[in-house]
Amino acid sequence: MSRVLVVTTGGTIATSTGVDGVARPTQTGSDLVAGLHTHVDVEVVDLMAVDSSQLTPADWDRMTAAVTAALRAKASGVVITHGTDTMEETALWLDLTHGGDMPVVLTGAMRSNDDPEADGPGNLGDAIVLAASPDARGIGVVVTLAGTIWQPLGLTKTGAGFVGVAVTPTARQRTWFGDLTAARAPRVDIVATYAGSDAVALDACVEAGAAGIVLESLGAGNAGAAVIDGVRRACAAGVEVVVSTRVPGARVTAGYGPGRMLVDAGAVVAPRLAPPQARVLLMAAMAAGKPVADVFERWARPC
Ligand code: ASP
Repeated sequence: MSRVLVVTTGGTIATSTGVDGVARPTQTGSDLVAGLHTHVDVEVVDLMAVDSSQLTPADWDRMTAAVTAALRAKASGVVITHGTDTMEETALWLDLTHGGDMPVVLTGAMRSNDDPEADGPGNLGDAIVLAASPDARGIGVVVTLAGTIWQPLGLTKTGAGFVGVAVTPTARQRTWFGDLTAARAPRVDIVATYAGSDAVALDACVEAGAAGIVLESLGAGNAGAAVIDGVRRACAAGVEVVVSTRVPGARVTAGYGPGRMLVDAGAVVAPRLAPPQARVLLMAAMAAGKPVADVFERWARPC
């Protein structure tokens, strides 16, 4: 019989609503798997019980350690239950750093565990069955929600669920950057731009020790003059600057004057990767010592 390790970290899939009307994670892994009929031998590890807004790169390492332990114990696969707010970031880091054949499936929920129409049990059941499936060997890290299996790269939470690249267990392009430690990855910050923005935030991030900056630029990759000057200063100081955009789904092309000036200043374009995942990709690229321009040319256009 297949054996799957379910690692819990919290999120809406594990919440119940308090008398103050606030949803907080209260359900253990045993609570979550009770009543599921998957015909899979399930073992539970309660790793964390937090809203995913609280997770840090060091927590990604704790998840990696749980995956490594499952690999050593010859589990068929691992399921990680996780809040949806930062699932796209955890999933991408884990995917870039998981090299084995054992499937790792992240899942969560949009509705609380105590909601009469809770979607968590169905999502968890799907994730367990997928992680146990021989067809999923080699799939790497994926996310399953509402009956769809997503590759991490390109996944974005929206107001109406997730958008991204759906995959099947047997067809999936993977990349592996090595066994990296997230807590030791270089600091990468995201800097917002807006009408009239100056370089105060950008300069402060560099001052705070950022080795990389993801610019949440305007439109197809533009920014105001003060920000362009700040990017020029940062790049001259050896900081890697990647240009993403604040516009969901837009393509960054450097096709307008200000965008061209950002590239001329030394910034690299992330053609189709939203800022949170551009940050994770930049952290991994720098931690692995890979050329940032090549990595974004190759991987920042998910398809
Ligand atoms: N705030 C929750 C979390 O990310 C949202 C969710 O799980 O859907 O933990």
